[in-house]
Amino acid sequence: MSLAKAHAISLLGLSGTPVQVEADISANLPAFVLVGLPDASLSESTSRVRSACTNSGFSFPARKITVNLSPASVPKSGSSFDLAIAIAILAAMEVVPNQSIQGVLFIGELGLDGKLSPIRGVVPMVLAAKNAGFQKVVVPLANLGEAALVQGVETYGSSSLLEIVQVLRSGAQWPDQLGLLERRDSSAGESNLGHDLDLAQVVGQPVAVNALVVGAAGGHHISMSGSPGAGKTMLAERLPTILPRLTMEQALEVAAIESLGGQLSQVTELNQTPRFQAPHHTSSVAAIVGGGKGFPRPGAVSQAHRGVLFLDEALEFQASALESLREPLESGRVVIHRSAGSAVFPARFQLVLASNPCPCGFFGSVKRDCSCSVIVRRRYESKISGPLYDRIDIRLNIAAVSLSAKLGMAGQAPTSDAARDRIEAARAMAKDRLRGLPYQLNAQVPGTLLRGRLSPGKQAMRLLDRHLHSGKTSMRGFDRCLRLAWTIADLEGATTLSAEHIAQALLLRGSDERGALQ
Ligand SMILES: [Zn+2]
Repeated sequence: MSLAKAHAISLLGLSGTPVQVEADISANLPAFVLVGLPDASLSESTSRVRSACTNSGFSFPARKITVNLSPASVPKSGSSFDLAIAIAILAAMEVVPNQSIQGVLFIGELGLDGKLSPIRGVVPMVLAAKNAGFQKVVVPLANLGEAALVQGVETYGSSSLLEIVQVLRSGAQWPDQLGLLERRDSSAGESNLGHDLDLAQVVGQPVAVNALVVGAAGGHHISMSGSPGAGKTMLAERLPTILPRLTMEQALEVAAIESLGGQLSQVTELNQTPRFQAPHHTSSVAAIVGGGKGFPRPGAVSQAHRGVLFLDEALEFQASALESLREPLESGRVVIHRSAGSAVFPARFQLVLASNPCPCGFFGSVKRDCSCSVIVRRRYESKISGPLYDRIDIRLNIAAVSLSAKLGMAGQAPTSDAARDRIEAARAMAKDRLRGLPYQLNAQVPGTLLRGRLSPGKQAMRLLDRHLHSGKTSMRGFDRCLRLAWTIADLEGATTLSAEHIAQALLLRGSDERGALQ
């Protein structure tokens, strides 16, 4: 035979498309040609595949080898096609039997010595293979753990081309390397939860702890302002520990993003803990929202998908980096446009901004005097644009613990487990109320609905109206307050809004003035 077909996956963002790799060996002058819209990185594949085959003991015939990747319209990039190309050629050379590669998908980069190197994006590739109906997927051994996170398809790991050829030729069973990886039951994933972080470790911040619980229950974004050392990071780090655990489906979605970022290696179970991402304030726009040369990579907003994105020293970030958050905050995803096509990454996260009250950090502090002028402070606060600021429902001032303790406010915070139970119950209440609507969390509910169908009783409304007319609250602030009040009611198990819920919400919501970050 001089014509054979193998299968691979082309990945753009998280979406994979099966690609047929056809190899034809003809009696023309010796050559090795790759056709079907391969990009520069893929064109290099010919050298790697030739050396890998030769060094594995399978020298190419002195003929013309043509490899066609179809459909030609699907953009193809990267080195993950190496293995499928080599297998297609070896099948065309009749080194491996053609029927042994039917229904099998091959993923992997080849070294010149014929060894298989790990690649990025194995989880979304295996998912795409499964959805396209493939029964077996062969991946580099180093990627086997993550490949096996996808249920419903057989995954095999191999360290070299020679080993794969031997299995295909002998018709033997694939070696059970997965057993070696100590595959544990996915329900035993408790050990991944928040390591040793717990809400109960927070001492003397009852207002902030309550705000975290309300934020987690309603999906409300949070900003925290306070002097250095007030405990903003400590609080933010504990938010993932009180968020509901990810479902298996959500955990797989998060694993696919991490696989693409090259963060998974030999994990053997899905991590159901919501993630915590804290990019540094010097991060580029690409590091925040994703991008980069060639193969687009997910940014911090996607790595925080279904978890928490924490921006410490938020006002020190480049304005363009802060602005880039608007798209994911509005749509829950990031689209990266490339000439070959658009990569889409999910990015639905809970945002926590922390900032100093002013450039010197001590405005409003009793410890030290602030050395900043009013103008300097105003300019500092205005670095967060109005549209971004409008999306933050909870605005907190964090006082240093010693001060709170002195004022007699010190109290024991609940454990993360206890807080999470309350939050899950509150979310269930919200879900029930929002049944039939395209929203799950109070933070997503638009103002028209809050003031219409979900309008609170007269007494509660009167309190809010008074704030609106006194100029203490804008219309946006009014809606934000209603959202928070519903979450507070849900946490109490109340089915209607009371004036007390509104009063508590007014405290959490902070001021509408741009001075609110202080
Ligand atoms: Zn200052």
